[in-house]
Amino acid sequence: MLKIQVTHSYFLAYDPKQWERGKPYPPLATIQVAALLRRMGHAVALFDTMLADGVEAYERSLPSVEPDVVVLYEDNFNFLTKMCLDRMREAACRMIASARARGARVIVAGSDASDHPEAFLAAGADVVLIGEGIAALVQLIQRLDHSPAIDTQGWVAGVSGISILDGGESRTIRLGIQPPDAQLAGLPAWDLIDIERYRAMWRERHGYFSLNMTASRGCPFRCNWCAKPIWGNHYLRRDAGEVAAEMSYLKHTFRPDHIWFADDIFGFRSDWVSQFAERLLEDDGSVPFTIQTRADLSTEPMAAALERAGCAEAWIGAESGSQRVLDWMAKGTRVTKLIDARLRLGAHGIRVGFFIQLGYLGEQLSDLLATRELIALAAPDDIGVSVSYPLPGTRFYEQVKTQLGDKTHWRDSGDLAMMFRGTYDSAFYRGIRDLLHEQVTVQQSRDSGSPESRKRALAALDARWDALIASERLHRNPDATPAPEPSRNHVVPLRRVAAAQNH
Ligand code: SF4
Repeated sequence: MLKIQVTHSYFLAYDPKQWERGKPYPPLATIQVAALLRRMGHAVALFDTMLADGVEAYERSLPSVEPDVVVLYEDNFNFLTKMCLDRMREAACRMIASARARGARVIVAGSDASDHPEAFLAAGADVVLIGEGIAALVQLIQRLDHSPAIDTQGWVAGVSGISILDGGESRTIRLGIQPPDAQLAGLPAWDLIDIERYRAMWRERHGYFSLNMTASRGCPFRCNWCAKPIWGNHYLRRDAGEVAAEMSYLKHTFRPDHIWFADDIFGFRSDWVSQFAERLLEDDGSVPFTIQTRADLSTEPMAAALERAGCAEAWIGAESGSQRVLDWMAKGTRVTKLIDARLRLGAHGIRVGFFIQLGYLGEQLSDLLATRELIALAAPDDIGVSVSYPLPGTRFYEQVKTQLGDKTHWRDSGDLAMMFRGTYDSAFYRGIRDLLHEQVTVQQSRDSGSPESRKRALAALDARWDALIASERLHRNPDATPAPEPSRNHVVPLRRVAAAQNH
């Protein structure tokens, strides 16, 4: 039996925007791995960095655990790990060095490590898992359990889907992107989480407590900018009854007021969501929940099934109000569908949020104004705004990689800096973001404010839009990257997606 410390490197304290937002979730993928290692018979401890003060707190944990192995396994369900933020990579590297200094073997896994294993190997990691890496992890742990003194060469011999240092150089033994591993099943190790710390922060900041779950791993769509170093275009959905049983367990054990489903695409088919709803009703297990989905999946049967299951809020990756930008992104949706989906879900009592992306290749002022129009017409309950962020492995990244300078990642999630030669500078997009947020605020105040005060607010907002639009030439990049060719062939036809998910 090995002493294994499982951890990750996302420190809320190192991300000012998220700290301010104050909505921390336990690291789901990390505690799924902890549960798997425990089922294999090992003594597993968790160091959860989410609410820790900093790397020093991690270092202080090491003498009491004295792990044989540290598995630094990022929470692949936390979208911030996809962004590979600089501050978290620095934290991971310091944690690796500290664990190695205490004599532990170190295995690392996550989006950033899959893209840039050399950075983590240079910090002292023995092995980087490429992608989800569960098969390789299980193999490595079994070997070490059998031969605790095995040298690194013997330990990793014949294992695929990993990266190691070989003669001072990183060497990756590729396996190709693998489907989500079926060994990662069952309840995550919820007992290792200090639930009360999470509850305290949520209650203090928001007056309620939210926990997270997942019903699937992966997404079969192929939006040009969406990085998928972990599951590629695979999609594996859990059994509806099993997901309902987990929600019921969380409800009766930890009493959350709300559940956030971290899936890229929740449910996918209305018949699955209907089964989920029926099981929840049988078990009295329903907790109001939030999902992420797509406009084209938000059909009438889906909206009805979501309502029955207790869905309170759905976030849609709307991205843009300009059809040509959606086509450049290979988003596979129509602007009209975005509005339809918003109305349909709203009619079933489900709040709707739109994720908006500014600054995609080729996007012009007219496209940005089309997005303003979309927000005015669809009137979502909330929006989240970001700028296009080229991540390795995406078609978008390939189109702009020669323009990336020293800055290839945001330092933290509030950075919102342009990293390629877009149409406008970062300040212009930050201005657009602020006005879009304000527009939603004014739209949402429709019922509360008097007609006069709302009229005044709208007039003030229009004036600010006019001022920003008038300044656009000052922010325009003379050397902007031209628009790409539309790439509809990257859109997966929905009927193929429906077939693929059943495998
Ligand atoms: S729908 Fe597009 S953006 Fe959303 S997870 Fe899938 S590929 Fe990524």
